[in-house]
Amino acid sequence: ARGASLTDFAEKIGVDAASLVQVLFHLGEMVTATQSVNDETLQILGEELNYDVQVVSPEDEDRELLESFALGFGEDEGADEDMAPRPPVVTVMGHVDHGKTKLLDALRNANVVAKEAGGITQSIGAYQVTTEVDGQERAITFIDTPGHEAFTAMRARGAQATDIAVLVVAADDGVMPQTVEALNHAQAAGVPVVVAVNKVDKPDADPSKARGQLTEYGLVPEEYGGDTMFVDVSAKAGTGLDSLLESIVLTADAELDLRANPDQNAEGLAIEAHLDRGRGAVATVIVQRGTLRVGDTLVAGSAFGRVRALLDEFGNNIEEAPPSRPALVLGLTAVPGAGDNFMVVDDDRIARQIAEKREARERNAALAKRSGRRTLEDLMRE
Ligand code: GDP
Ligand code: MG
Repeated sequence: ARGASLTDFAEKIGVDAASLVQVLFHLGEMVTATQSVNDETLQILGEELNYDVQVVSPEDEDRELLESFALGFGEDEGADEDMAPRPPVVTVMGHVDHGKTKLLDALRNANVVAKEAGGITQSIGAYQVTTEVDGQERAITFIDTPGHEAFTAMRARGAQATDIAVLVVAADDGVMPQTVEALNHAQAAGVPVVVAVNKVDKPDADPSKARGQLTEYGLVPEEYGGDTMFVDVSAKAGTGLDSLLESIVLTADAELDLRANPDQNAEGLAIEAHLDRGRGAVATVIVQRGTLRVGDTLVAGSAFGRVRALLDEFGNNIEEAPPSRPALVLGLTAVPGAGDNFMVVDDDRIARQIAEKREARERNAALAKRSGRRTLEDLMRE
C-alpha cells in the first residue's frame, strides 16, 4: 500500500470506507473517505484491523507491476554474449567560472561529426562526440548541463546518469570550494574523475598548482605515480581537447566495464523535458540499455506515449538510439521530470497503466505535502 485515499485502501482490503473513517476518528484523526492519507496512517489502520500493511517503495511498486506483466526493469537481460560495449556518459563539474560551459561548447564544436553535419548543434541537454583512440573510433556522451546540481538532483532520485566526471579546475585559480564539493559528489557516487586543468592560455596559469592541490584530496596525477588523468586544456583556444577525450576513453577502459544489451526494449533516463508549442511534450533521454526506436511505446515518469520521432543533437531524424545515445523524443502525452526513468513496453495499455499509477503517486505526495503531512518516504529522506 502507499499513501492512497481511504476509499482506495478500503476497497483493497475489502471493508467499508465509512468504517475506516470511524476507526480513524477514534484514533483522533479527522479524515474524510476521499482524502489521501499517508503511509503511517495506513499502517496504523492496518494494525487496528489486523492487516499486515507493507509500505512499498515506488521502485518496488513499478517492479511488481512490471513483473506481473513479465517485464524486467533496471537490469540488462540476456546472456553475457548479448552485451556490447557502450560509450561512457560524462558530466562536467567544477567551480563557477572555471570554464565548464565553455569547455562543453568547445568539445561540441570541435567534433568532426558536428562539422560534417553542418556544425549546428541544438541544445537538447546532451550530445555525443567521437574521437580516435588507438586507431579506433570511440564515442563519448556528454551531459550538457554543467555543475553538480543536476548531478545531485538526479542521484537524489536514484538515477545514476554518469559514468565519468570531468572535473574542471582553472589553472589560474586552482582548487576552490565548489571544486571540492564536486569532487566529493563524484567520489560518493563512485564515479571516476578525469581532471581538466583549464585556462592554461592565461599568463598567470599554473597547472602544477592544481595538481598539487588535488593530490591532497586523493586525486593523484598519473605523472606523480597516481591513477588520475590530468589534462591541460584551454577551452578558449581549443587546445588539449583531443587529449581530454582520449583520457576519458582510457579511464573508462581502465576502470569501468561499460556494456549493455542493445537487443532488448530500451530503458534509460529522461534528462530534460519541456512543452514545445509546435511539437508538444519533448524529452531528451539517454538510453542505458536496449535500443529505442521510432514507433516504440514508452513510459517516462508519469508520461507515456508512442515515439513519433527521434532527433539527434543536430535536429536530424534518427530511426533508433542504441545504449548511451542521447535523443530527443517526440510523441509523449506529458512532460516527464528530469531524472525520471523511461522504459519501452510492448503494450500501450501497460504504458498507460504505469503512467497513471505514477501520476497518482505524485498527486498523493503533493497532497500530503500540502496538508503538512509527511509520508514515510519523506521521513526516510530526512
Ligand atoms: P562556468 O561557470 O564554469 O560554466 O564557466 P564559463 O564557461 O562560463 O567560463 C567563465 C569565464 O571564463 C568566461 O568568461 C569564459 O570565457 C572564460 N574562460 C573559460 N575557459 C577559458 C580558457 O580556457 N581560457 C580563458 N582565458 N578564459 C576562459
Ligand atoms: Mg556555466
